[in-house]
Amino acid sequence: MAGRGCIRGCTVRDVHFATCPWFGLDDDQAAAKREASTDAPCGGCAPVVAREESLLCEGCYKRLRRLLGDTADLIGHLRSLADPTKAAVYDRVQVSSSRPELPAPVPADLIDASNDLMRMLRDWAVFVDPQLAGRRGLAAGAETAEAFDQANVCLQVVLADFDWLANRTEIRDLADAVLHRHVGEPQWWSVVDALAKWPLDDQPRWAKNPCPECDCKTVRVRPPRRTGDPASYRCTTCDWESDDRAEDGFWAEAFAELVPEVEAAA
Ligand SMILES: [Zn+2]
Ligand SMILES: [Zn+2]
Ligand SMILES: [Zn+2]
Repeated sequence: MAGRGCIRGCTVRDVHFATCPWFGLDDDQAAAKREASTDAPCGGCAPVVAREESLLCEGCYKRLRRLLGDTADLIGHLRSLADPTKAAVYDRVQVSSSRPELPAPVPADLIDASNDLMRMLRDWAVFVDPQLAGRRGLAAGAETAEAFDQANVCLQVVLADFDWLANRTEIRDLADAVLHRHVGEPQWWSVVDALAKWPLDDQPRWAKNPCPECDCKTVRVRPPRRTGDPASYRCTTCDWESDDRAEDGFWAEAFAELVPEVEAAA
């Protein structure tokens, strides 16, 4: 299996096939060629090797698994945005207003995104376990908690067989459904499309301490999404990963201090 490339067509930056016009050039030669040539320069055409027993490279595998893992939360989140009155009831005791207000119309793209993602999870759950086909779909008015539960049932089915899926050509379609970023208003909503528009509240932060593996200060801390979930740590340089339960909570202590995200001026 050695040398099989990532099915998503990932390439190694600045590494080229011998047949590529950009093969074997040093930096100066490449710069000169870029000046002289009207063709788009090749940024690298040698494929990233897929991980063992998988058709995805390490980067795609981890990114796909992580973002797919967010999908049930995301659907719950979209539902709560679509129904702010109910979300408010879940979150806090509602202050009663003297004057009843008409509910604001729910933006259509919120509903579209939620439906697209739910359909995606269901389709993949049924692909993995055809016996699930009989289950009822997400009701249009499903409340947030229920929407999450339904989505999560499907998600757990898919995650349980993720490694099996990752070694089949169908993984390319699943990767698209999760990772494909549309330009402009999407025809259908991928997970990254929806996350970009309606980010989950607990976005990861950079840790102050360096990565135990590569010593770069590039560890992302993702807080637990629900009570009982672990906080997770991931280095964006070397792909080291752990969570607050590993090693008797050693990393929880190391990464307890969070550095606030530097926000682009809003
Ligand atoms: Zn090339
Ligand atoms: Zn890849
Ligand atoms: Zn690292």
